[in-house]
Amino acid sequence: MAKVLVVGGAGYVGSTTAFALKDLGHEVVVLDSLATGHPELARSGLFVQGDMGDRSVLDAIFSSQKIDVVFHFAAKTVVSESVLYPNEYRENNVLKTRILLDAMIDHRVLALVFSSTCAIFGELEAPISENAALGPLSPYGENKAEVEAMLRDEYAARGMKSVALRYFNASGAEANLRTGEWHTPETHLIPRVIQAVKSGVEVSIYGTDYPTPDGTCVRDYVHVSDLADAHILAMKKLSVSGPGSFNAFNLGTESGTTVLEVISAVSKVLKIPAKIRHDARRAGDSVSLVADSKKAKVELGWTAKLPLSNIVETAVKFEERRMEWACRKVVVLDRDGTLNPDPEPGYINDPGRLSLFPGVGEALGRLKRAGFTLVLVTNQSGVGRGKILPVDLEKVHIRLQELLLPFDAQIDFFAMCIHSPAEECLCRKPKTALIEQAASVLGFQIADAVYVGDRATDLLLAKNCGAKSAILVRTGHGAETERKMEYPDGLVVSAYDSLKEWVGPFLLGK
Ligand code: UDP
Repeated sequence: MAKVLVVGGAGYVGSTTAFALKDLGHEVVVLDSLATGHPELARSGLFVQGDMGDRSVLDAIFSSQKIDVVFHFAAKTVVSESVLYPNEYRENNVLKTRILLDAMIDHRVLALVFSSTCAIFGELEAPISENAALGPLSPYGENKAEVEAMLRDEYAARGMKSVALRYFNASGAEANLRTGEWHTPETHLIPRVIQAVKSGVEVSIYGTDYPTPDGTCVRDYVHVSDLADAHILAMKKLSVSGPGSFNAFNLGTESGTTVLEVISAVSKVLKIPAKIRHDARRAGDSVSLVADSKKAKVELGWTAKLPLSNIVETAVKFEERRMEWACRKVVVLDRDGTLNPDPEPGYINDPGRLSLFPGVGEALGRLKRAGFTLVLVTNQSGVGRGKILPVDLEKVHIRLQELLLPFDAQIDFFAMCIHSPAEECLCRKPKTALIEQAASVLGFQIADAVYVGDRATDLLLAKNCGAKSAILVRTGHGAETERKMEYPDGLVVSAYDSLKEWVGPFLLGK
């Protein structure tokens, strides 16, 4: 039996592989920063919360544990996000990987299974074999290709043996449902369709004019448990490989499914018809990605066994489990006066002027690392009906996400309304409909969420939604609100000088 370090073992494929290794009797150590992972998924062995870019954490692990093999899954993986933030992606996915690899070399841990992706390929005719030319269409794909090249050239020369497993579209959940797909925000097709269909909202199809049989993109959806098996076979292969070797395998089912076919498979399992919206193409998407996995069959003895029906059935079951976990951990935030100063919001037309109150980024980052989902609710009443467009608000929120990015504190869901046209207005004051929509999409219990704001209307909103407790911050209009208002009956309100002050005691359970 081996002792393995699973870096990124609180994420989707990492946790599934970690549980599969544990089930076979291997000893598992998980390292995960929880930037995107979840502690609920990290129960496969000893869990260390830390960053793979932190050399002192790596030294502590490698000197205290006799690790035989490292499995490296930790990465930011959202293609569209990587297009917006290429520098942050490279920093996280390439430069921090280098720190991990250097630590392995120094501690003489020389066997690695690396989580790679079919996004290293560009527009190619299906099926795609290992001989196909690389041509990533996104910074995410470039990051993975760059790490593969480092492993093949530099680190193999330094004695490391490694296998890169290029997954096509990882999907489904393990049969025991101890873990599954849980991203916030969720960008992947299958969980997004499940969430949308269950909550009766429209499913967005990104592009319906592609040169495919029904105009939507084709992907090779491969079951995450099949991928976990491939990692175990890769470990076996490493045990018989000589020092300084590199090998890469394309892992898929060798058959393609369109976006529309996925939607209809989900509808069938849920027995609910899907409402569909045709949207524009998404940046960085390839038309078709289908694997040729013959090399994995011949050299690893691996083939994908589980069909799309099992993928969708297990994904639907895991979604229920995920909702149970997620619903206890939601913070609903007001924006102006709570996260950022609230002068006349001149930044609506000039988002560059938006700035955060001191400490807000760090505070939200701590909440995210503790597993909270962040929901932001805005109804732009101060600006007035019809004077701004949703697209203006979206620009403000893109700017907000930029400001929060260095803290790994991204908002998971924006619920917003501009009251225009008035007759179609979704929210009305107080904006309960917006929160109900967020609760329905993300699957949380409104009563269990924590509400934070600086105005009387924010506290009223919490009460009208059925919340039990709310936090008043004394930033923005908070001090004035505290002086003037009667707190709504039946709502426990605590006041803090800032969001930063509030998060500390809250996380300590006070
Ligand atoms: N997609 C979609 N609507 C969604 C999410 C995804 O139409 O809400 C499409 C996306 O454009 C791509 C396919 O579904 O063609 C698979 O996307 P996903 O993000 O799941 O995986 P990717 O192939 O990008 O890694």
